[in-house]
Amino acid sequence: MNEEAISVFDMFKIGVGPSSSHTLGPWRASLLFMKSLSEKELMNQVSAIEILLYGSLAKTGIGHGTDIAIQLGLSGEDPVVFDVESIDAKISDIKAMKRILLSGTHEIEFNPSEDIEFLYSESLPYHPNALTFLVKLTSGDTIAQTYYSIGGGFVVKEGEDISHGHINYSLPFSINNAEELLHWCRKTGLSISEIVLENETTWRTEKETKDGVLNIWNVMKACIFKGCNTKGYLPGGLNVNRRAFEMNKKLINGKEYHDYDSWLMNIKSGGNDFKYILDCVSCFALAVNEENASFGRVVTAPTNGAAGVIPAVLQYYIAFCDGDSPDKIINFLLTASEVGSIFKKGATISAAMGGCQAEIGVSSAMAAAALTECMGGTQRQALMAAEIAMEHHLGMTCDPIGGLVQIPCIERNTMGAIKAITASQLALQSAPDYAKVSLDGVIKTMWDTALDMNSKYKETSDGGLAVNIPLSLSEC
Ligand code: SF4
Repeated sequence: MNEEAISVFDMFKIGVGPSSSHTLGPWRASLLFMKSLSEKELMNQVSAIEILLYGSLAKTGIGHGTDIAIQLGLSGEDPVVFDVESIDAKISDIKAMKRILLSGTHEIEFNPSEDIEFLYSESLPYHPNALTFLVKLTSGDTIAQTYYSIGGGFVVKEGEDISHGHINYSLPFSINNAEELLHWCRKTGLSISEIVLENETTWRTEKETKDGVLNIWNVMKACIFKGCNTKGYLPGGLNVNRRAFEMNKKLINGKEYHDYDSWLMNIKSGGNDFKYILDCVSCFALAVNEENASFGRVVTAPTNGAAGVIPAVLQYYIAFCDGDSPDKIINFLLTASEVGSIFKKGATISAAMGGCQAEIGVSSAMAAAALTECMGGTQRQALMAAEIAMEHHLGMTCDPIGGLVQIPCIERNTMGAIKAITASQLALQSAPDYAKVSLDGVIKTMWDTALDMNSKYKETSDGGLAVNIPLSLSEC
């Protein structure tokens, strides 16, 4: 039987900050649209292109770099490998020349400030994050194609299955919720990560999956290291100072390290004092999200706004819990990905649909389950940890100031990471058979809460901190 199938590499995608739904999604949509024009052999006939942004993409698109991402996608740049240091130069060129080289092959006139339209008061019914490409061909014909960026970098073309945005496959273990996952664990005696590894053979060999997952960790740890070693202010005009740099300096007693491994040895040698470990975890999360806010290279986990939680908890596991081995790292990320996909299937990982509970809440639940399994917990304890982590994020709103993924987003990743560690520790000390609340029950509650949540708190910057704090900032 075919079923909805989400791979670990759908949940963890290498990309560019600051937002998976507002940056990476539109970037990928632009690439997909360019590919479809090439496949139909229409690329050379394009004489003009216009992009319409709706709903949340319009309201917070500027702060999230949606317009920049679209131009890079139209240019055919790959977010996985594109040199993030050259973004400014590339965008400045397009703006100055008023021309764009579509897919790197076909040049047309293009004025970003006119040809990318932010329709602030319009929304399409399927999803708040919608964008439409309007193309004029030299023949006089026109093409209109809409895409939806449904969270976590997932993109759906209008007319495709809007609920999940991924292709159906037949997996060895069909899993749509936590109960089904537990069923397979009970039946086979496999751990959650072993179940996931088996399912991943649908797409590739076990070795390829393991190598790919380790590459995900390589990008995550490079992001932590870079964030810890970069100082200055974040772009966007809020004058937010990067804090990981100073925090890291204190943690490593002012020493300088030019490579991750030496830095990690120093972090590990710092002892087990509670405040020291707390500062380390916060520093790891801040580092990633400061990179994310600076258009740096990050891994969606499961989104960019929440990209710091899972790397911070995994880095904690590596540095302080004897987790520094490839197999342990792989198991951690495989388990986290399964919990994330259960949330995606049962609720959402899009802040425009469910507020910040869908981003930081989900990432915290993913990290909590992964840490619990890796620390020797049972499958039930791992899912209990995910349930605890989400239970205490329910109702959390998304109200980024200035539409930038900075305040409250960056600090919020530290909170998500710490809650994940606490939830894991609680679950490891508990007998899950006596747990009153199931993970599936909490996922349903999260979705019900998402449906009830006012749209002001769904990544529109129309409410909460976004409307109350700018005034006080300007008064400073
Ligand atoms: S408030 Fe939360 S959901 Fe909203 S942009 Fe920030 S991290 Fe993402």
